[in-house]
Amino acid sequence: MTTPSQSSNEPQLDDKISSMKIPINPQRASTLTTNLEHIHSRISSVFSQQPPSAHLPPSTPRLVAVSKLKPASDILTLHNPPTSHTHFGENYVQELLEKSRLLPSSIKWHFIGGLQSNKATQLARDVPSLWAVESVDSEKKATLLDKGRAQSSNTTEPLRVFIQVNTSGEESKSGVSPDSEELVNLAKHIRDKCEHLHLQGLMTIGAIARSKATTPETENEDFICLRETRDKLAQALGIEEASLELSMGMSEDFEGAIRQGSNEVRIGSTIFGERPAKKDAKVL
Ligand SMILES: *Cc1c(COP(=O)(O)O)cnc(C)c1O
Repeated sequence: MTTPSQSSNEPQLDDKISSMKIPINPQRASTLTTNLEHIHSRISSVFSQQPPSAHLPPSTPRLVAVSKLKPASDILTLHNPPTSHTHFGENYVQELLEKSRLLPSSIKWHFIGGLQSNKATQLARDVPSLWAVESVDSEKKATLLDKGRAQSSNTTEPLRVFIQVNTSGEESKSGVSPDSEELVNLAKHIRDKCEHLHLQGLMTIGAIARSKATTPETENEDFICLRETRDKLAQALGIEEASLELSMGMSEDFEGAIRQGSNEVRIGSTIFGERPAKKDAKVL
């Protein structure tokens, strides 16, 4: 276990030592850097479109680079200068545990995958610099994350959580239904009963068919739904809409998501390329 960082994002000595084991290929580094810069410029250009979209977020959304099934060297490459990228997303608890031990604690990890109750406490307790868990869909899991965060020796800061909403209603997707009492109750549970959690906002994945059909004229219904769900939830909780973020938009549909107010996009394959099968993935 590492000692808590006194203050800053300065890599700690332990980090430097463990990261030294990770080789970086210059060719790969150049591809990744170019891909990331290209995404940043596509994000910026949504803001410069005329006329501007009515629901644009107040500021440029956070970019979470989704590094699941990709090696630690890819993450270190983008975390190092010149890109110095900080937010990375992972889907599997075991893989995230391994990567977080190898990589600098200045990385801000997002857990975005399907969350199993039996791993929730460990996730919140044992991943140093876990910044957010985006796939909370039950009071039980929130309680277990809260318990894990309370036991974490790495931080006293509350863990940010997003409630996952199943905006498309597909049976294969997790998440609570948009217009439900379950959603309001879960949000209240997090706010009132989970001292070590902070309700950061709502997350959706959305239907692939809707991403494919998205154009500036035909906006994605999942993203409209998440925004409207957020507005109603904020009202039910008696808080400002802007105090709840929207995490929506992936490689295929992030521009449409930003036009609908996304505060955070989660992009994997457009940065890192196709992912290997889970059985073939290697951290080192
Ligand atoms: C894999 C994944 C992403 C990234 O998907 P890409 O299409 O590769 O950009 C985003 N969000 C979640 C929840 C994911 O599981």
